[in-house]
Amino acid sequence: MKLAQGADSIFFDQIGGKICLCFNKEHKHGLRPDDELFYRRENLAKLRKLPGKDIATGIECTADATAAFVDYIHGCELGNYVRCTEYDAADTLFPEMFRRTFPEVIMTNRLLHDCRKHWKEDLNFAFVFGNRFDVAVYRSRADIEQIPEYAQHVGKLLTLKKQYAEFLYDRQAKFVCDDELSLPDGGIYAEYKNGGKKMFAFPTGRKKTSPLTFSAIPSP
Ligand SMILES: [Zn+2]
Repeated sequence: MKLAQGADSIFFDQIGGKICLCFNKEHKHGLRPDDELFYRRENLAKLRKLPGKDIATGIECTADATAAFVDYIHGCELGNYVRCTEYDAADTLFPEMFRRTFPEVIMTNRLLHDCRKHWKEDLNFAFVFGNRFDVAVYRSRADIEQIPEYAQHVGKLLTLKKQYAEFLYDRQAKFVCDDELSLPDGGIYAEYKNGGKKMFAFPTGRKKTSPLTFSAIPSP
């Protein structure tokens, strides 16, 4: 019924992650709750086939076991947005490692619906990590014209993305961590490669949460 409204995508909340032991014996996994994910992957494969190849299928939550079955992931876990770096666990988050290991996974940014605290840093973080922007202003209760400052910044980032599309949208492009460079006041957050070309994207702020600008430098 929802697809009859001409949707470009169908989205299933939460089921990409939240992997907990399930003790419902009626389920296929029976007395092996640790096998739940095996059957969930079967379900995802079936769900992916339902809308047909021209309609994107998305899920929420990032896990390598489920990522292969969908077109995009609405990221949810720590590492999907810059504010997570304010938490105690920040030192154990390595979004670079996930992007390096699974560069083909298409993810969106997270929990940014309007101009709340760190909104600009969140958008920049998403840009640097090659995430698509989840623009759902006031949880889709308003449109983007109602927060022009946000609209302007997203517009700026989208223009930059277009400019560097060969690194950010090309299927051949990959997030890599090949080079070690020393930069003043800040580390490299992203390095992209496409064939013989490379691009580095990094914030110039000292911390991930400081107001930042960034630079994208295509190698010669
Ligand atoms: Zn179960």
